[in-house]
Amino acid sequence: MSKKYSKYFNTRATRQTQPIPNRNMVPNSAGGFAFSVDDWVRLDRFLILGSEGSSYYASEQELTVKNAKAVVRCIKTDGVRVVNRLVEISQAGRAPKNDPALFVLVLCSKFGDLATKHAAFEAFNQVVRIGTHLFQFNEEVKGFRGRGRWLKRVNTAWYNSMNADRLAYQAVKYQQRDGWTHRDVLRLAKPVPPDAAHNAVYHWITKDELIENAPTILKGVEEIRILKKVPAKAKVAAKLIREYKLPREVVPTEFLNSIQVWEALLEDMPMTAMIRNLATMTRIGLIKPMSKATKLIQSRLTNQNYLTKARIHPIAILSALKTYAQGHGERGTNSWEPVQSIVDALDEAFYLAFKNVKPTGKRWVLGVDVSGSMEWGEISGIKGLTPRVAAGAMAMITAKTEAEHVITAFSDQMVKVNLSHTKRLDEVLDTLAQISFGGTDCALPMVWALKHKVKADVFVIYTDSETWYGDIHPVQALQKYRDKMGINAKLIVVGMLSNGFSIADPKDAGMLDIVGFDSAAPALMSDFVIQ
Ligand code: CA
Repeated sequence: MSKKYSKYFNTRATRQTQPIPNRNMVPNSAGGFAFSVDDWVRLDRFLILGSEGSSYYASEQELTVKNAKAVVRCIKTDGVRVVNRLVEISQAGRAPKNDPALFVLVLCSKFGDLATKHAAFEAFNQVVRIGTHLFQFNEEVKGFRGRGRWLKRVNTAWYNSMNADRLAYQAVKYQQRDGWTHRDVLRLAKPVPPDAAHNAVYHWITKDELIENAPTILKGVEEIRILKKVPAKAKVAAKLIREYKLPREVVPTEFLNSIQVWEALLEDMPMTAMIRNLATMTRIGLIKPMSKATKLIQSRLTNQNYLTKARIHPIAILSALKTYAQGHGERGTNSWEPVQSIVDALDEAFYLAFKNVKPTGKRWVLGVDVSGSMEWGEISGIKGLTPRVAAGAMAMITAKTEAEHVITAFSDQMVKVNLSHTKRLDEVLDTLAQISFGGTDCALPMVWALKHKVKADVFVIYTDSETWYGDIHPVQALQKYRDKMGINAKLIVVGMLSNGFSIADPKDAGMLDIVGFDSAAPALMSDFVIQ
């Protein structure tokens, strides 16, 4: 007897537009069915991916509201656990941006119980590390509470507990953001200075006046400010920059075309600033083939300790690489001639910025979702960095680490892409950006591997889990693969969007949800594969 009814209703091969019978699946946004992730996974996705920029299926607003509601449910369940989690991710620099952590901290201060609010107070300076964070926090918190005691206490503690020299540096480097200045925050918090040096910093911020006991950097700022617009003064400016370790933010614009000035700035330039200013330093001629500055920058970029200490996220490097290699800005007319050794150093830095991972020696099938929805939106607000190209970059990490791997790409069919672990990242991004749109069938990498009898210990699918096209659900395709090949292959789903879906079955211990762009992702993946 041929299949009559079980053709339409069975548990082994169900069309993706239907849920698997008896399984708790939810409709995704694409008209297919997927598993929903629990609120804690969603918290992680939000902390790491944020919800900036609209996705193919949801606006930034919708995505943010859904994520925030899930976060509030977590806070109501176990607020201290939420605080611990956001501190862990923020401190380790696992997210491209600190903004989601700051927002979740705000939510904890509003919706948490007493223990949570206390934990949020204790954790404040670990998450709010620089002036910019402080301004962002004060802006976000406006949506939830008045200027009450809790807020006065955290702001006061931020200023008073910081070493005065460091605080002075914060005051000159991070002057304003989101409509906030240090003067604004100090006027509201009115901290009583713990010593004369703090008093001098507060005085300088609020009254713009240098008094006794002020940290020396403030004297340097006053001196460089009064240098007038004469080319010869660039030398004096450079001297002041070296003497007082002044950051770029206090250097008058007239001097920002001077090689001497940038050479001086480069000496103590923080990594983040260095990575952001590569184009400028090339344009003005400080970075050129084989120059001293070029070699210095190369050595810093490829120093893993520096990258880790400065919490440089791989996505920040990817963004810098993408812009730098193209030789012109996204807007405006600025252009420069990229220096190849800097492009190479950025390429190397991208891999170094991930937490160290040892090869597992397992066989990996990497499946990059290149469907239409993955081409929509921007990662961390970076122009041109779509989930699709970022997924390709993520796949490269495993490809570089593991000797046995194959990189595949799929939409509603397998897509031929010319990717290999020897490609440079800018080439990978170009290759992926050129693929045309298509529907989505996340089961394809497993179906393909079974068809070609490709032996795999693990499948990694980089996707938004908006799958709908196929005749069989991804978990069923995996089960079929396991049965027919006699290999208990695992599945890792690398979520590229902070939505609530996954193709991973939460009840199958052989499947794991990972958040894309988590700088700890490669390490978490290899731990899971060898366990
Ligand atoms: Ca899709």
